[in-house]
Amino acid sequence: MKNCMNCNRPLTADEVAVHRKLVSREATRFMCKTCLAAYFNVPEEKIDQKIIQFKRQGCLLFAHDLTDFTTGDK
Ligand SMILES: [Zn+2]
Repeated sequence: MKNCMNCNRPLTADEVAVHRKLVSREATRFMCKTCLAAYFNVPEEKIDQKIIQFKRQGCLLFAHDLTDFTTGDK
């Protein structure tokens, strides 16, 4: 289990994958979506939307979870 490099919260596989897509594919330390949103100065929902978008594109980093398009809804 990886933890966020900023706030130390345990990371989901989606958060690791979206960090790879948005920041660096070679990243070895990752941020949770809350910290990613702050890093890019966007609402957290934007990160959720990116996760859904990458899944719909069939991104291999998200291939483990192709059917789960709706998580993150509040
Ligand atoms: Zn964090």
